[in-house]
Formats: sequence, structure tokens, C-alpha cells
Amino acid sequence: MKNETKKIKVAFPHMGTVSVAWAAAMRKIGVEPFVPPYTSKKTLSLGTKHSPEAICLPYKLILGNFIEAIEGGADYVAMITSPGCCRLGEYGNCIHSALVDLGYDAKYIELTLYDGIKGMYNFLQRLSGKNNPILFARAINIGIRKMFALDDLENILSYYRAREVNFGDAEKNFNKAVKLIDEADNTRSLKKAKKAAFELMKQTRIDKNREVLRVDITGEIYLVCDQFSNQNILRELGKMGVQTRRSLTISGFIKDAIIPKIFREGETHLQRAYRLAQPYLMRDIGGDSLECVSDVAYADERGIDGIIHISPFTCMPEIMSQNIFPAMRENCDIPILPLIMDEQTGKAGYLTRLEAFVDLMRRRKRKMTKEATNV
Ligand code: SF4
Repeated sequence: MKNETKKIKVAFPHMGTVSVAWAAAMRKIGVEPFVPPYTSKKTLSLGTKHSPEAICLPYKLILGNFIEAIEGGADYVAMITSPGCCRLGEYGNCIHSALVDLGYDAKYIELTLYDGIKGMYNFLQRLSGKNNPILFARAINIGIRKMFALDDLENILSYYRAREVNFGDAEKNFNKAVKLIDEADNTRSLKKAKKAAFELMKQTRIDKNREVLRVDITGEIYLVCDQFSNQNILRELGKMGVQTRRSLTISGFIKDAIIPKIFREGETHLQRAYRLAQPYLMRDIGGDSLECVSDVAYADERGIDGIIHISPFTCMPEIMSQNIFPAMRENCDIPILPLIMDEQTGKAGYLTRLEAFVDLMRRRKRKMTKEATNV
């Protein structure tokens, strides 16, 4: 692989803005990132056509991304895998076999996330053909820092989107801000880009007096982070005056799975999950169910107006968490909206459910405020 280092093009599947982070890490090691077209209906239909019917939605979209990447000229497709009690543990083998069966000759390579920094190091070594710990440390560092900056930006976006005077302004500024982060190629320029990006977001004209609801979004991490697969739920809620907070983020996952304990600050999402899910779920049952159960308790503890749980159709761990939510009602007085997504999910039906949920939360909040002021 050594002599091809400058030529090989490596593609990863999409998941929200993650391509910005991994592309930076690839460039650092001298490999060309190949970013396939962002997930679309075409991606979904390609993935669905070549997937087992009952497999979960993320699998179909990832396979679709790979097909589009290979047809666009990628030499390598890189799959992020992790062990688990659910189908995620099988994704890698199944996707690889599907690509072989389809006759694609692109090379397939896996990044095992739960091997932490060591797993990332081995992965970068295989791709670049180099053995340069300093270079790899820089690549991992820039990739991780970008991901943290992007997740912070998304939080800021949801603040402005719920209050903006002209709908769409916040997102326009966000897209420009992401471009700034993308263009930074070292930690110093990233620091500057982050500052400029946040300044850009502040230019969004907002109505500070708008009655804004706060909603946490939990569920299976891919769906929570990827706007195509969740039908851009954060945008739709923003339009309705709802500020969202994704309980599951890629940077949160990185803190738990990749960053060594001595470098972490405060309680991580997984640590909080074990603490708060205890009365309802004693152990990890795969996917993000432990986190989801704890997220409901966490949202309730903070007085959030509601929580939406998004899961892919047939996702075993999330079916389990949805069955635990009713038992939580005794202790957690928070409206919960479960949404199940698959390739058949129509937008009109799910928008109606969102509107009804927002209406319910708004009436509940007004009632509670009225009761509090009458006391
Ligand atoms: S968590 Fe759910 S959607 Fe994700 S791989 Fe497992 S079964 Fe599929």
C-alpha cells in the first residue's frame, strides 16, 4: 500500500457532519478523503435494494453510501464497527459480503472503535502504510477536535433556529460555519475557525421574547445524528419554536469509547447512563438503550419540556427501551414521543405527530406556569 499512499481515495459512510472530521484526519496522514454525495433518496433506494428486508435503516443507508462512493471512484470504503449485542456486530461482515456479491473491487477496511486509540492507530497505519506515531496523534487530534467543534455548533444552531426572525437564516450561517471548520488544517487554525464560526452564528437575527420549548432528542445514535434518516426532525422542531438538544452525539461517544480516562473531564454520557438507568435497566443490552432510558430520567431531572425517542424499525435495543418508558412514568413526569423510522416513513404523518406533541408540551408548560404564579 506504501507506494499508493498519495493516490488512494478513502470513503466513510455519512452520519450528520462526521465527514468533516474524518476527512481532516485522512488529509493529515496523506490519504485522499473521498466524500460520497450526502445521503439522499437515491442512496436509500440503492441500499434497500441490496439489503435484507428486515435489517435496520442505518445498515441500508451505509450500504447505499458505499455503493455511491465506489461508483464515484473511491478505492477504499471504511466501515466503523463495534461489538455489541445487536446487529451492529454483524454490519461489517454483511456489508463486505454485499459489496463482494455486487462485484465491486474497492477494498474494504474496518475501524473497530472500541479498541480506542490503539484501534485508530492500527487503522491509520494500514491506510497510510506509515508507522509514524506523531503524525497519527495529530490526525486523531484534529479529527476529534473538529467533531467536538461541530457538535457545539449544532447546539448553537438549535438555539438560534428556535428563535430566528427569518426562517432559514440560522441554517445558512451554520453551513458557512461548518465550511470554516472544514477548511482549518491544524489545531491553531481550527481554534480561529471555531471562534469565527461562533461569531457567524451570532449574526442570526432572533426574537428573544419568543416562547421557546426545550426538547431532548434521544434514540439510536445514527438516527439522532443523521438528518436524512431522522427526516430532519431538529429543523422541523426549530420551525415550531423548539430548541433541541441531542442526547447522543458523536463527540459524546468519542469521550466514552476513544479518549483515555485520564483526559476526560466530568461524567461521561455512559457513566451517567449507568447511574440514572439503574432503577429501570441494570445492564447494557446493546445499541443505545441504556443511554436512552437514562436520558429520559436526565431530561426530567432538568425540567425539560419533553423528550423524543427516535429508533429504526426493528431495532432490538430501542424496542426494549420503548417498553421501559411506561414504567418510568411513575417517577418521571415528562412527555415522551417515540418515533420509529424506516424507508417507508412518510413525512406528512410524522409532522402531524410532531405538531400534536409540541401543542401538548406548550399547553402543559402554560398550565404549569399559571399554577406556579397562582401559588
Ligand atoms: S442499535 Fe438498532 S439500528 Fe443500530 S445496529 Fe443495533 S439493531 Fe440496528
